[in-house]
Amino acid sequence: MGGSVERALGVHRVLEPRGALPQAALRLDADPAIGPDEVRIAVERLNLDAASFRQLSESCGGDGAAVRAAVLEIVTTRGKMQNPVTGSGGMLIGVVDAVGPESPLGLAVGQRVATLVSLTLTPLRITDGLADWDGRSEQVPAEGTAILFARSIAAVLPDDLPDPVSLALLDVCGAPAATARVVERTGARSLVVLGAAGKSGCLSLAAAREAGAVDLTGLVRDEREAAALRAAGLADRVVIADATDPLAVAAAVGTPADVTVVCVDVPAAEHGAVLATAQGGTVVFFSMATSFPAAALGAEGMAADVTMLVGNGYTPGHAALALDLYRRTPGVRALVDPRVEA
Ligand code: NAP
Repeated sequence: MGGSVERALGVHRVLEPRGALPQAALRLDADPAIGPDEVRIAVERLNLDAASFRQLSESCGGDGAAVRAAVLEIVTTRGKMQNPVTGSGGMLIGVVDAVGPESPLGLAVGQRVATLVSLTLTPLRITDGLADWDGRSEQVPAEGTAILFARSIAAVLPDDLPDPVSLALLDVCGAPAATARVVERTGARSLVVLGAAGKSGCLSLAAAREAGAVDLTGLVRDEREAAALRAAGLADRVVIADATDPLAVAAAVGTPADVTVVCVDVPAAEHGAVLATAQGGTVVFFSMATSFPAAALGAEGMAADVTMLVGNGYTPGHAALALDLYRRTPGVRALVDPRVEA
């Protein structure tokens, strides 16, 4: 690999272990002084990945101050926000405050942007001790600096949507894009979403409909979410089951679907997802709480001939698709808005 490629990927910012890529690294150098091909963002707000926030919150017994301390400790120790248990991060919004002369990202000082690369590889320094955050929500008001490499992606924030909404949508924008792509490529007719009333779940339902799927099932965990999803009108059928209980998922779903999209923020949904999927079908594991061994060995153990896809956070056009689905789909807005702190 040539030096310039290494720099573009941010390898020069890796402190430990040397030579690792930033995402896999234990520690990054979060020095706010930028190199000629880097961009510095003045951070305004972080969006912690749902699986990471849930894990931190549960491990701290819901104590917001303890969650805040845990996040600060991670960022201080690692130079990035990567939950060591879930391995996941999130993304951030802020204002571009310095652009190196050789940066290819096309950003200008003063632009308000969302980073579309994970916090797990973004050098991050927090300077306000997260004083304005109560530790009880995924969205974290924060002051500090973040660094983008030459090979990063950022989206200029839209003027017509509140920042917290844009941040929430852009964090999960890989899910609707991956769903649409699978439906289009396979010609799938039926689709099940596990965690369908959540942010990535409802966007995936809307994307599947637009991509041509005609038989949409939304699986949710309780009657409250079922009522909300029914009112949103995004699914043809709403079923209730614990996504971590494979037999309950299979019973609730009934006839397996061509495609299953896993959008829950808890571990152990792999086997239910496999059972919900028809032979020859496809499972998209968007959830960051997914276990590769559980998925692979579980499918093998059930003699399930299903294609299993890791929900790549990046698909070309993913940001615009998620924002547009939100703008033009009242049911998506009805489900996303209550989950987003204004
Ligand atoms: P979200 O808005 O919190 O939605 C998750 C949904 O799953 C919620 O409706 C939740 O219900 C439901 N759920 C939780 N446990 C369940 C269970 N046992 N049975 C049935 N439903 C259950 O989360 P999100 O922001 O859409 O994120 C979803 C997943 O995507 C997370 O795992 C996150 O890590 C992942 N993610 C992946 C990428 C990527 O690039 N692949 C990027 C960002 C996020 P309650 O609200 O009642 O708990």
